[in-house]
Amino acid sequence: MNAIVKARGLSKQYGNFRALDNVSLNVGQGRIVGLIGPNGAGKTTALRCLLGLSTYDGELSVLGKNPKLERMHLLRDVAYIADTAVLPSWIKVEQLLEYMAGTHPKFDRSKAQQFLDQTEIMMNSRVSQLSKGMVTQLHLALAISIDAKFLVLDEPTLGLDILYRKRFYEQLSNDYFDEGRTILITTHQVEEVEQLLTDLIFIKQGRIVMDMPMEEVAESFIEMEVQEEQLEAARALKPISERSSLGGKVLLFENARASDLREFGRVRSPSIADLFMAKMT
Ligand code: ADP
Repeated sequence: MNAIVKARGLSKQYGNFRALDNVSLNVGQGRIVGLIGPNGAGKTTALRCLLGLSTYDGELSVLGKNPKLERMHLLRDVAYIADTAVLPSWIKVEQLLEYMAGTHPKFDRSKAQQFLDQTEIMMNSRVSQLSKGMVTQLHLALAISIDAKFLVLDEPTLGLDILYRKRFYEQLSNDYFDEGRTILITTHQVEEVEQLLTDLIFIKQGRIVMDMPMEEVAESFIEMEVQEEQLEAARALKPISERSSLGGKVLLFENARASDLREFGRVRSPSIADLFMAKMT
């Protein structure tokens, strides 16, 4: 695998608090990777290390570069939307495009313009006149118009309604993604990125608890709906989690064979949200 990101034993300490604890992972070229964890899990900290915005212990390489030593070089090929990304409220959209075109050598102004033509954002609007959803779209327009090899998005749809969230991810895959590019997205709203991702990484209290391509997720986890009378027998097969449903209990198994489970109940693939709950609790 041609890895865009290689982390080995990556750790970050804030005083006595360990925000990242011995994280090792790879992000392959052409992948759309979800770094998913609850608030405070260490997602933003990890991204800040990758982008050379934070010091760290351990080994890290991004696009073949050391983020601590080669940050300026690295940022030519990376586009980033921070979870706290703020645009100046007084600036007009057209001025923003002008500014980007003047400062970023890989910014394609006509691409941003085309993207914005599909939205309700007007060129002569000021940022202060746009809704929160429109500001996020504007950020996306800027980020995807940079000819970057690696796009990093930190909770990009936080605070948006469902329509904007769905549109955001559609635009991301239609207007930006191709095989030469790689996307790393952090979120705690797993449901909405489920269809988009090629790889899933769960992070909890600074540690990676799962790291798998989506195809492998489908092969590794099975969910089974069990009636009361079969429950004890099904529990003996050692599910990793159990939850109540209308029809009885739903048990989640890792590395079990569907053929061994079928006699106890109806089997299916779990949703990523249910898998996330199981791995986090
Ligand atoms: P996430 O992005 O998953 O919500 P963060 O990476 O922002 O989590 O934070 C991980 C943990 O590190 C949290 O407990 C947070 O309070 C702590 N943390 C983040 N930044 C700092 C900092 N500059 N100083 C001290 N603690 C921090």
